[in-house]
Amino acid sequence: MQPASPDPTLYMMPVAQATQTDPSPLPATVEAVVFDLDDTLCAYWDAAKAGILEAFALHGPAGRTPEAWVAVWGEAFHEFCPNLKQTDWYVRYLKSGATTRTELMRRALARGGVQDEAVAQALSAAYADRRNAHLRLFDDALAVLRALKKGHKLALMTNGPADVQRQEIETLGIGGFFDAFFIEGEFGEGKPSPRVFKSAEQVLGTSSERMLFVGNSYKHDIEPALAMGWSAAWIQRPSDVAPSSKTGLPESKPEGRPEPTVRLSHLSELLPMLGLA
Ligand SMILES: [Mg+2]
Repeated sequence: MQPASPDPTLYMMPVAQATQTDPSPLPATVEAVVFDLDDTLCAYWDAAKAGILEAFALHGPAGRTPEAWVAVWGEAFHEFCPNLKQTDWYVRYLKSGATTRTELMRRALARGGVQDEAVAQALSAAYADRRNAHLRLFDDALAVLRALKKGHKLALMTNGPADVQRQEIETLGIGGFFDAFFIEGEFGEGKPSPRVFKSAEQVLGTSSERMLFVGNSYKHDIEPALAMGWSAAWIQRPSDVAPSSKTGLPESKPEGRPEPTVRLSHLSELLPMLGLA
């Protein structure tokens, strides 16, 4: 039996990409581009998933598979982390990821019926180490940063502890691209606080209509940027699912909220929109 011929209509489907003759959906006045880091420039969730599994493979107590321990860890995460900002843990979290990361391991072990401080410490250190070892930029990130750097002010705005986010920037080797950094752990608060976005405008010396945010989170990146009057490019990739996710699906836009200025599936789609390709 002959294989079926390719459906000719597949080649006639419209391609939702800007061409040279299309007007760009982004204003020509954009002079500063602020990037989110995790799952915008680098595949953080993929690294976190590999790192947490390897940590439990190395140090998970007997009686459960590493995958089963990761599931228990996910339950502990949902109990401990969503309200972290409202607790005394937050001040320590801002400085260093180790304190809350180790506490989360203690709670995961306790849920699994194990109380062992040495194992909690070993799991916490292994998770940080293995996650960092797996961290990679997306394929087109460097080319996009290089192209934008020639004519735009660039900043990085990322939530997380000061030490963890700085380690990521060093591991990825991208610090030299940015004129300014807005790291939750250093700034004292993170996205979606409008104070962080306002500070970026002031430090970059740019007005809101000349700012573009590029990020993967509607809640933390896109909605607050739009509320500031910035343009906002929402990058959505299938890999953008946390290891603690209950749905296994990337974030979707809540109904009734404003549309992003543009949606991207690859960072390189930005370049023609900014007249650079
Ligand atoms: Mg992100």
